[in-house]
Amino acid sequence: MGKRSVSQFLTYQDCPERWRLEKQVGVPQHPAVWSPAGSAMHYVTEVWERDRLGGTGKSRSDYLEVFQVDFDARLQAEVDASGIPLAQFRTTNKTADQPGGLDREWWLKSSGDLLDRYTSWREETGWEIAISKDGEPGIEYEFIVKVPEELDDRPEVTLVRGAIDRVFTGLPGFGVVAYDLKYGSKQGDLLQLGTYAAVWETVSDQPVNAGGWFMGRKEGNSGPYHLGAVKEWRNINAAYRRLDLAIIDGVFVPRFGTNCQRCFVKEHCSFAQVERSTLA
Ligand code: SF4
Repeated sequence: MGKRSVSQFLTYQDCPERWRLEKQVGVPQHPAVWSPAGSAMHYVTEVWERDRLGGTGKSRSDYLEVFQVDFDARLQAEVDASGIPLAQFRTTNKTADQPGGLDREWWLKSSGDLLDRYTSWREETGWEIAISKDGEPGIEYEFIVKVPEELDDRPEVTLVRGAIDRVFTGLPGFGVVAYDLKYGSKQGDLLQLGTYAAVWETVSDQPVNAGGWFMGRKEGNSGPYHLGAVKEWRNINAAYRRLDLAIIDGVFVPRFGTNCQRCFVKEHCSFAQVERSTLA
């Protein structure tokens, strides 16, 4: 197996058949509005954090423009790559009042509230951004880190890569915490936070005892949670190793059901569950 990544683990957890179709077969993915929207929210909050750390700042409307420019650029890139027009991108939460679901217009209209929710949360907590040994701030921190050699000395499987959305200090009783930002409805997997904690301890020498998810479209955040054994390299390594073995053995059990509604490859999946409907 090649390098391990947190996102590959999360895709497999979501649906092993989806992992096979996306990563092994390489079928084209049907674009969805929520992906570039979530990425653009990550980006604008990153800009806000870096400005804050540098003691500067922009007006709220400037930050909203940062969001819009980045969002539209990402949407256009997906149109160009897929050949699918924006009007056919997948959306969530379709209702009689909002037949187009959470489309581009909804995200633009809501971006002010979503940004306010993040900045208020940050100001209310009073937490500060943690800094690594190399002076890098814990903001969208990209990493490729070696699993300790005593756990796995095969060179081809000793790397884990990913990006930690935020690392904060200043939480009484928790110390340093790793956070992931979510703009969908589901929180992530604890192994994701455990991996982030182990990585940040490696690059900072700061103990990370907890982690959580900032749920951008909901009130408040989820966590922080004590990470305990999930941040121990031996457990992290064992979990990724089992993922390797499952893939080598071709274990791709489909998790069809509500997952299918948000799946990027459902057009190519024989297990795809049909859209929700009533029998009436
Ligand atoms: S359509 Fe459903 S079963 Fe098929 S890959 Fe997607 S989530 Fe899995």
